Amino acid sequence: TVKRIPLVAGNWKMNFDHLEATYFVQKLAWLLRDAHFDFKRCEVALFPSFTSLRSVQVLVEADRLRVTYGAQSVSVTTQGAFTGDVSADMIAHLGCSYVIVGHSERRKYHPEDDANIVDQVRAVLAAGMQPILCVGESFEERRQGIELDFAVGQVRDVTRDLSDEETSKLIVAYEPVWAIGTGMVATPQSAQEASCAIREDLRETFGADVADAVRILYGGSVTSKNASELISQPDVDGFLIGGAALDVDELAKIARLV
Ligand code: PEP
Repeated sequence: TVKRIPLVAGNWKMNFDHLEATYFVQKLAWLLRDAHFDFKRCEVALFPSFTSLRSVQVLVEADRLRVTYGAQSVSVTTQGAFTGDVSADMIAHLGCSYVIVGHSERRKYHPEDDANIVDQVRAVLAAGMQPILCVGESFEERRQGIELDFAVGQVRDVTRDLSDEETSKLIVAYEPVWAIGTGMVATPQSAQEASCAIREDLRETFGADVADAVRILYGGSVTSKNASELISQPDVDGFLIGGAALDVDELAKIARLV
């Protein structure tokens, strides 16, 4: 079997200013160090607001922390007259490894359609980072029983125009929209089913090497109470965590369970 290093990714959304972010990172580092946390066994990544990225970078570099980090979204253009946007190069120059792309909240509150999401993925890859592509059905698709086709289709819409090499750098977060921030977590079986369907589809299109390289995360009301059972599923390679990632003790606890 193939070994993918699990990833525990904390999406802070629009929470924490740079002072709160600094405090959080220091406490997280201290908790994990105290627990002799093995970063070779599990990766921990944080997704602060743009305004906190520089502070996180300084801390990580100064203390040689093994925590990685990234941004929550990115502009599809490289530079120019786009007031309020932030380019992939700007993000990469702050030491970011990842950018979350197509989170359901971005799809809902901003005009992020499939074409825009493909362009974001391309921009992230071109800047040498890895996109974390969020997919997942709403309650309506689940009610109709088409959730697997829906999530697989969302991944296909993005990978259709990507090379094998580009696709192998993708991280997919399967996040059923009805489970995000609701306390309603997917069952381990259904998280596995969706992750497996996505991986099998990648295998058919891009071959085993690519399918085995792509990390597939589960997201949606993950806590330290449900993390163990979810991570024991063979195709679940970690988590994208919202609410529970705002509590440093809880995030450290989840990382230790993975
Ligand atoms: C998310 O925002 O990606 C998420 C999964 O949120 P929560 O963990 O709060 O459900």
